[in-house]
Amino acid sequence: MNKDSKPATIAAHAAGAIDPQSGGVVPALQPSTTYLRDADYALVRSDNIYARADSDNLRQAEEVLRQLEGAAETFLFPSGMAAIAAVFRTLPNSSTVIVQSGIYWGTTAWIRDFCARREITLVEVDADDLRATCKTTKADLVFIETPSNPWLKTVDIQSIADASDATLVVDATAATPILTRCLDFGADIVMHSATKGINGHSDVLAGVLSTKAKDAVIWGMIRDDRKMAGAILGPFEAWMLTRAMRTLPLRVERMSQNAQALAEHLLAHMAVDDVFYPGLPSHNGHQTAKHQMTGGYGSLLSVLVKGDKDDALRVVGKLQLFLRATSLGGVESLVEHRHTIEPHTGIPENLIRVSVGIEDIGDLIADWDQALA
Ligand SMILES: *Cc1c(COP(=O)(O)O)cnc(C)c1O
Repeated sequence: MNKDSKPATIAAHAAGAIDPQSGGVVPALQPSTTYLRDADYALVRSDNIYARADSDNLRQAEEVLRQLEGAAETFLFPSGMAAIAAVFRTLPNSSTVIVQSGIYWGTTAWIRDFCARREITLVEVDADDLRATCKTTKADLVFIETPSNPWLKTVDIQSIADASDATLVVDATAATPILTRCLDFGADIVMHSATKGINGHSDVLAGVLSTKAKDAVIWGMIRDDRKMAGAILGPFEAWMLTRAMRTLPLRVERMSQNAQALAEHLLAHMAVDDVFYPGLPSHNGHQTAKHQMTGGYGSLLSVLVKGDKDDALRVVGKLQLFLRATSLGGVESLVEHRHTIEPHTGIPENLIRVSVGIEDIGDLIADWDQALA
């Protein structure tokens, strides 16, 4: 794509992926695990040897994400957790990491276990105290998540980048590269669970890392580890992802509009105590979000309904359009009663996490109104 192409253009054209062999306007799916050599033993394509390292379908999906992110290099992984693990595996034993608390529970749980096994000092801090801790604690790596899941806490990426010399890794799953280009705000590595909004159809598990500093030592270690340890996304998943990302900017735009309207409606509702959404002026990260997110505030929000656990579960049980399932960022709206899933994390019993899809907003609001009634 032209270097000035906008995200909607990059995405719709899948960064120029076509099939030169057939003339197809979409790329072919190539599942081969190995690649031919000719009679003189030269590779038919010098960049294709074996599929753990080489796949056109993987490169096509990575190129779309690289351009959307404004990155120098992008790597896809078979899940978001595999991408996070690839970053942490670069840390030497006995190093120090600062990790934001109250983030995606799967990340916290894995990092705690990994750091304990590797004798890595793990400093967990709330989003509000991150900057101060970064200034006073010498660390090798800082890991933040913005907006965070399920509290929607918003962290000023640039202020953390300025406060620490450590490698700054940002999980921006809830923002997607459409709403926040984290590398432009000083992140060294941006990570997403592509399972969520990037794929957006709840049918591919994938993770992604991008950087502007592709010559950095840590990035070289990630590149080698992925190839040699084999955390590679399969060609079919990569092909599906390339297909899905053609509508990423459109989906994110509609989801953000729907989420904003639903958040405002619920905040004003008698049966609701509070709503956490970065797009609400009442949200304490709103000013940061306004500066850091462009074109909307994403699909994720959390609602505190009036009453106790049973009341919250009754509301969740009465919803008809919002499917009761974990995950977020898909075209279909989902709800989750977090306390049932992770009672040990101190999540309020009356919190309902909502992922808003691309349905008609009138239908979505009507569904909540009947459930809250
Ligand atoms: C889902 C999620 C992950 C993990 O991604 P998987 O693709 O499920 O492995 C990490 N961070 C956030 C914020 C997520 O929502």
